[in-house]
Amino acid sequence: MNFEVEYTSAQGSFRRDVQAFLAEHVPGDLEFPVDTIDLSEDQFKKRRAIGRALGERGWLYPTMPKEYGGAALSVDEAIVLSEELSAIGLSNPPYYDAGGRHAAPSILVWGNDEQKQRFLPMICRGEIRSWQLLTEPGAGSDLAAVKTTAIQDGDHYVVNGQKVFVGSNHGADYSWTIAVTNPDAERHHNLSWFMIPMDLPGIEVVPMNLLTAGGGEGGGGCGVKNTVFFDDVRVPADHLVGGENNGWQVASTHLEVEHGGTGRVSGGSLVERFIDHCKHHPRGGQPLSKDPDVRESLVDIFIESEITRLFGLRNYWLAHADQPRSYEGSQFSLRRKLSGLEIAEKMLDIIGPAALTHDPEWSALAGSLEYYQRDAITALHPGATTDIQRVIISRRIGIGRPEREKAGALR
Ligand SMILES: Cc1cc2nc3c(=O)[nH]c(=O)nc-3n(C[C@H](O)[C@H](O)[C@H](O)COP(=O)(O)OP(=O)(O)OC[C@H]3O[C@@H](n4cnc5c(N)ncnc54)[C@H](O)[C@@H]3O)c2cc1C
Repeated sequence: MNFEVEYTSAQGSFRRDVQAFLAEHVPGDLEFPVDTIDLSEDQFKKRRAIGRALGERGWLYPTMPKEYGGAALSVDEAIVLSEELSAIGLSNPPYYDAGGRHAAPSILVWGNDEQKQRFLPMICRGEIRSWQLLTEPGAGSDLAAVKTTAIQDGDHYVVNGQKVFVGSNHGADYSWTIAVTNPDAERHHNLSWFMIPMDLPGIEVVPMNLLTAGGGEGGGGCGVKNTVFFDDVRVPADHLVGGENNGWQVASTHLEVEHGGTGRVSGGSLVERFIDHCKHHPRGGQPLSKDPDVRESLVDIFIESEITRLFGLRNYWLAHADQPRSYEGSQFSLRRKLSGLEIAEKMLDIIGPAALTHDPEWSALAGSLEYYQRDAITALHPGATTDIQRVIISRRIGIGRPEREKAGALR
């Protein structure tokens, strides 16, 4: 019996199209810093240009409907596109666009026709990139506790408040932001979402100094996280998306995506490079991988990362093939976070202190291991902590609530 995944000839032909496209549009001098905090403005612009070229074909958000700037690719084609980008070290989008990744599916489900026509094409064509602004000093896991207000004043909403741990380096065109639109209403019935142009007067962005800003690989990392202050920011009323005080419903789609419900197609990971490193890097006159203890740990690392990869792939397929979903998003996210920590610990055991430095003389894999050590810790928090993922799983399998909670709508 042959269990090998076999690609169809149509996928093979699409793969050749993608390879030809990437050969034409990915410049030879593209840099891949270990931490996107080191991505220069020039390199960022090159990635935006790749994003726009992908967007022209509908390949930036490839499964989105064509009328909104996607290519309506089937899941078979979309997987090939992701694999080919991944194989050359890029994510899709090839830069951080959390607003696009979360706002676009949320607008698709909850926006009215005019909002879909206005916002989705500019996201899908890569004309804008956006941040997602949810967390506040008193509202992280408990998102419904946000205090930032957006109070209507004629044909504008006036926004006041503060968001933390948000955004990235190199600025943003829009922020996808949740705020209180009715301070007198009950919890969960008082919130709305806005696409806020980031060049409006009264917005201040102050970088934070964190262990990492998350997700260095593939260039999709944030570089930095920021505090964003809103001081009497006047946002045009037609930038409220999904209905006034309907924000908790819109959040169900946003959070489904953010919590792992749309999965991930990954390849060319640090784990593969690490295993290869151990096969060639000598210690005591022989490659590290000749040591029986190291071999055992390498097998564990491989299995950990492979299970996580397969969960991501399964979720990608479930979401893009419109299959029923329940706890799978949080299951993938929880696994990714916990296995990341376990892999980091095993790598440290194998390599020793060289895994803790990016000094070119001592570091392993050009500092990638040092970054991974830090990132495995910070990765426990964004997109819901491990505790919150457990809470969601319990609600979805029917032990946290009298009725099984449903997964957020994606279409
Ligand atoms: C690198 C990084 C990137 C981020 N990016 C963004 C971003 O782009 N946009 C954005 O809006 N936010 C972002 N965040 C913020 C992130 O979403 C929050 O850190 C996260 O939701 C947790 O909120 P908190 O930090 O306020 O912790 P808290 O909510 O105060 O939680 C503190 C601790 O209590 C536990 N806890 C809380 N409630 C429960 C419960 N009900 N049951 C069991 N345990 C519980 C938590 O698991 C945690 O261990 C980012 C954070 C980091 C670190």
